Amino acid sequence: MAELTEQEEGTMKPAPRQGHLDAQVFEEVVTATSELIRLDTTNRGGGEGNERPAAEYVASALADAGIEPRLLEKKPGRTNVVARIEGTDPAAGALLLHGHLDVVPAEAADWAVHPFSGEVRDGVVWGRGAIDMKDADAMALSLVRAWARAGVRPPRDIVLAFTADEEDSAEFGSDFLVREHPELFEGCTEGISESGAFTYHAGPGLRLYPVGAGERGTAWLKLTAHGRAGHGSKVNHANAVSRLAAAVHRIGEYEWPVRLTPTVRAALARLAELHGLRPLGPDAQDAEVDALMAQLGRAAALVEPTVRNSANPTMLEAGYKVNVIPGTATARVDGRMLPGAEEEFHATLDALTGPDVRWEFQHREVPLQAPVDSPLFAALSEALEYYDPGAHAVPYCMSGGTDAKQFSRLGIVGYGFTPLKLPEGFDYQALFHGVDERVPVEALHFGIRVLDRALLAGAKGPHAPDDNAARATQDDNTTRDATTPSGG
Ligand SMILES: [Zn+2]
Repeated sequence: MAELTEQEEGTMKPAPRQGHLDAQVFEEVVTATSELIRLDTTNRGGGEGNERPAAEYVASALADAGIEPRLLEKKPGRTNVVARIEGTDPAAGALLLHGHLDVVPAEAADWAVHPFSGEVRDGVVWGRGAIDMKDADAMALSLVRAWARAGVRPPRDIVLAFTADEEDSAEFGSDFLVREHPELFEGCTEGISESGAFTYHAGPGLRLYPVGAGERGTAWLKLTAHGRAGHGSKVNHANAVSRLAAAVHRIGEYEWPVRLTPTVRAALARLAELHGLRPLGPDAQDAEVDALMAQLGRAAALVEPTVRNSANPTMLEAGYKVNVIPGTATARVDGRMLPGAEEEFHATLDALTGPDVRWEFQHREVPLQAPVDSPLFAALSEALEYYDPGAHAVPYCMSGGTDAKQFSRLGIVGYGFTPLKLPEGFDYQALFHGVDERVPVEALHFGIRVLDRALLAGAKGPHAPDDNAARATQDDNTTRDATTPSGG
């Protein structure tokens, strides 16, 4: 009730721009989610996967609406679909709307409902991909079809990309598209994809919608200690196992300093305000940040993984017999780097490993930072707060990574935005890659409305060129440079 009052008494909001959303779109988003789930696109890693059936489904639904799809494969079966909808304002800069078609494996025996049934039961769609992210694919697809039926055109060009292989290395998906087909993304300045904009129940009466505006970078490390091999009964001060163990211990126990990125700083400021707490000063010390988080209750979980770099030892390997000292020992560490804190990550690892242990990246993905003061971020937030009056959109840095990392190589700034209104107790984050993955039908309907409003709001891109010169420069530089990954 309190929310309604706030809505009525608040500023006069414009009438919802949804006259063109017919009954069909709300039915279709549910059927499309369910049917996409039924097309098993499990990605087993190492190049093993088959997105083709889902790609064909998407392509034929687009073609049926008069939107011309392109199917692109680096390897047979690993199919991507790209299409462009021309906007009414050519100066506004294009917007990329992307979603992956693959899913992680699911063990049917563990599930209450078969993971590839796509069953709709009691107002909930069940199955692998229900939230990651065939729901979002279905929303984008149903929405652009509804626009086509109603003759609605968005202000910005919208490039739709349905990708393969996001759940592994992206080699056959967004990485391939960025390397081989950058021209398809010409003019795109910003992208929207998983996985923000879900209801986060932060406490009594406090509903938040974290909108993704950054991602930590991935740094999977291999540590190698060399020493003098020998008999286990002899004195040995160059023991690879103890050298490695010491380095692993230092890494595991290290307290990383707080490093506030613009997104996390903005998130903390907003959360402090919503909780009636004193905001942090510009040079708040670690203890103050920790003290603030301690007072944020459930909302703290939204920022906690992203106020610091992290590095957790996860694997150890050494030796083959109890009385033999091996010459080498290795360990793996799962590291995550914040935007702007990569150099510090390197230097800290150098110091923690010391002279006897070498470390290297086994897998590395760049961190991302998107502005939270952009017109697009404002439009995304407004649409959420419009359809869930009394709730609050908050900026959010994701602790993991998405296809946005690959598209960033084309200069595309990524936002995490898959709008879903979820009931209290619905543990969205636990369902990612989890058992009994599912999405309420109501949440999909909310998503359609919010996405529609946000995409039609007309928020221009960050460097929406007023003159063609600006656009030409961007094409020459950004697009060509794209073949060089920005962070290895
Ligand atoms: Zn995903």
